[in-house]
Amino acid sequence: MTFKAEYIWIDGTAPTAKLRSKTKILADDAKGAELPLWGFDGSSTNQAKGHASDRVLKPVFTCPDPIRGGADLLVLCEVLNTDMTPHESNTRAELAEVEARFGAQEPIFGIEQEYTFFEGDRPLGFPVGGFPAAQGGYYCGVGSDEIFGRDVVEAHLENCLQAGLGISGINAEVMPGQWEFQVGPLAPLEVSDQLWIARWLLYRTAEDFKVSATLDPKPVKGDWNGAGAHTNFSTKAMREGYAPIITACESLGEGSKPMDHVKNYGAGIDDRLTGLHETAPWDEYKYGVSDRGASVRIPWQVEVEQKGYIEDRRPNANVDPYVVTRLLVDTCCTALEKAGQV
Ligand code: ADP
Ligand code: MN
Ligand code: MN
Ligand code: MN
Repeated sequence: MTFKAEYIWIDGTAPTAKLRSKTKILADDAKGAELPLWGFDGSSTNQAKGHASDRVLKPVFTCPDPIRGGADLLVLCEVLNTDMTPHESNTRAELAEVEARFGAQEPIFGIEQEYTFFEGDRPLGFPVGGFPAAQGGYYCGVGSDEIFGRDVVEAHLENCLQAGLGISGINAEVMPGQWEFQVGPLAPLEVSDQLWIARWLLYRTAEDFKVSATLDPKPVKGDWNGAGAHTNFSTKAMREGYAPIITACESLGEGSKPMDHVKNYGAGIDDRLTGLHETAPWDEYKYGVSDRGASVRIPWQVEVEQKGYIEDRRPNANVDPYVVTRLLVDTCCTALEKAGQV
């Protein structure tokens, strides 16, 4: 007997990479063993030139395929060159190094993935040739005048749970047709791998409902909220005390750090981080308790309990989780190490 393995990878499209996948039929005895390497045409994914187009897919994370069911699998892959070095589009390999270096600090992340459904060229819920009622009632709303796409959202949530992903919640967002799911808290590679699979499942689930989902950070210009990927972060020391929370917040504001982070937090970040719509301007760094207009927020219970985590509110919905988690671990864990707060 055989089963189907959907090999999924992140391509080389700039400025924002896309997900690609194809199906491999494997003999049952391939299960339990390490899944085989595979290849693809990198010249069709912005990952190679035509004359040397082969690229290698190396399985790194596997889970049950909730779309096909049965014994079938989803297989997230890293992209390698034919000499087995990481391809330049492979940001996971770099995160693996940083996670190994700072693993003793036990960093964990919860990422809030916002996204928007589209039907043709309009967000779901936007009337033809016009705009719906202004923002105000849609966030966490109920009722068919406020909620668009709940059937898709429920199907996606169920698929993520069937796949065994660490989804921690969902909610309707501020703009009609805009939603959020959260993954984590989990270790850096885990949360990132699972977020990429959850994104793939979002697109794939929406296909069956004839709508599309986008991670565009500012899908409607003007007085409408953008879509972000708030990244919640803690280390063991931060989960046990408040001084390390402050050290982490301060470290993100030092020297060139604000720009080093923001320019890697997803294409089009200056369109979304305007200072309006619950954001801080992209070229200013500030942190604060309960402050949804800050770059980094310390949740109120964290101040009350004097321990917990911080929320980096800057990452765009289209951010690469391998990159944002690497930068946060690198900046904050280096500072915590220096301060002797580990
Ligand atoms: P918001 O109020 O910003 O909308 P959410 O409930 O959507 O908050 O998301 C909060 C996220 O923070 C969740 O993904 C949760 O898993 C994560 N989280 C909770 N505790 C921690 C922690 N100690 N370290 C890292 N992430 C955490
Ligand atoms: Mn949220
Ligand atoms: Mn949100
Ligand atoms: Mn948030």
